[in-house]
Amino acid sequence: MNAVASLPLHDPAKAFLTKPKRLFIDGGWVEAISGKTFAVTDPATEQTIAHVPEGDAADIDRAVAAARRAFESGDWPAMTPSDRGRLLWRIGDLILKYADELAEIESLDNGKPVAVARAGDVALSADMFHYMAGWCTKLHGLQIPLSVIYDPGAQYHAYTRPEPVGVVGQIIPWNFPLLMAAWKLAPALATGCTVVLKVAEETPLSALRLGEILEEAGLPKGVVNIVAGFGPTAGAALAGHPGVDKVAFTGSTEVGRLIVKAAASDLKKVSLELGGKSPNIVLADADLDIAVAGAANAIFYNHGQCCSAGSRLFVAQSIFDQVVEGVAEMAKSIKLGPGLDPSSDMGPVVSEIQLDRVCGYLDAGAREGARALAGGKRRAGAGYFVEPTVLVDTRPDMTVVREEIFGPVVAAIPFKDLDADLIRQANDSIYGLAAGVWTRDISKAHRLAARLKSGSVWVNCYNVFDSALPFGGYKQSGWGREMGEAVLHNYLQTKAVTIRL
Ligand code: ADP
Repeated sequence: MNAVASLPLHDPAKAFLTKPKRLFIDGGWVEAISGKTFAVTDPATEQTIAHVPEGDAADIDRAVAAARRAFESGDWPAMTPSDRGRLLWRIGDLILKYADELAEIESLDNGKPVAVARAGDVALSADMFHYMAGWCTKLHGLQIPLSVIYDPGAQYHAYTRPEPVGVVGQIIPWNFPLLMAAWKLAPALATGCTVVLKVAEETPLSALRLGEILEEAGLPKGVVNIVAGFGPTAGAALAGHPGVDKVAFTGSTEVGRLIVKAAASDLKKVSLELGGKSPNIVLADADLDIAVAGAANAIFYNHGQCCSAGSRLFVAQSIFDQVVEGVAEMAKSIKLGPGLDPSSDMGPVVSEIQLDRVCGYLDAGAREGARALAGGKRRAGAGYFVEPTVLVDTRPDMTVVREEIFGPVVAAIPFKDLDADLIRQANDSIYGLAAGVWTRDISKAHRLAARLKSGSVWVNCYNVFDSALPFGGYKQSGWGREMGEAVLHNYLQTKAVTIRL
């Protein structure tokens, strides 16, 4: 644990990181049944910072059994909506109480700058619980007047009941570890479901700390179970488990397909938040200072490790050079460094596998003829750092234009005509998660917003997330929505009750 001792951490984060890690199952902290652990790495130094129990199918079995007991009997189903709301609110408050500690844990584990983790990930996680707390008392059905045309003269009283779908398996990625846990857990709890959460093997730490917070808030045992482990073992076991009623997944489109196949065995309900290759469009009339900074932020925020990253930058031909050179200048000015160093603008990518994946795309881009105006390679030395990269001279068939890179790499593409040229190219993707438009022409903004095939459209802004706003994908970017009222549908099923009077 010397690696942790020498890091610039405050005492609470240091204390959490140095104590033994356990899985959170049935309200207790346990080893993996196999006794195995795996190492967690600081991506800025490649040093081991913790060992975490390696959950597998046996641990998932135990966690699902606990979630089933908690769903069917005990304190959780008996809790009033108002008590459940207060409990969720308390979880949000506790996240804020421990915000600095959580931000340090997140920064160290994921690599993102600590200030970004504090202002973004942690604050939004708390907000998600606070927002969902309000929904607990507002999940009501309808009284529906019936006609029953083949039973003339009879009277009926009919109503609907929104009911929790049951035991939910949730599988989350490593790009926003705490926030993805909050996006998943808060709505599931608001609706009265119980959960087995499988955290990403790259970044298990903040969710384990969140488990302690759930315990401190007084969540009944077994309502949330948190298992660390690998995708093909723990993840696959959860996605195919016969005791799970619904699977909620955030991650790559490739693994999303595996989740659907695993869940198909007993037709579990499935929601998916998957990849993207989002178009970010700068029109000739845009305020260029704002658009250039916005385009840089759209791709470089979280080191490009956002499913919504603005990774295809479409710029009107007449301003192409000016915009792209502006974004390249910003890319060159970004200071790479460890997330815990307050002077770093951008940290490392999350893992060696991710580093190799991003560098593989940079090589493919160069081979296919794209030119890097900024960046283009890994930074030499320790840590998984990739230079913020702006690619030009791209063609629509290039790998770097078609595939999700999930790193700080943007492909810039000029366009001539909005209707004939731009819309077709912008929508020419298997993905449909997000899009950006930069313009001062309000009618063009609305026209584009209607024609872009994506779940989110941001105008003169990008990557704006709010607990009240639904987020999710068209096409192969997903099924269902996260956040807002919309996410509640992922976790509820409607029962119709009919009484002949
Ligand atoms: P990335 O490619 O960005 O690492 P993944 O989609 O592979 O994202 O991973 C997201 C989550 O899915 C992680 O928690 C991972 O462990 C899990 N996962 C990976 N493979 C599988 C699988 N075959 N079944 C279920 N979960 C999986």
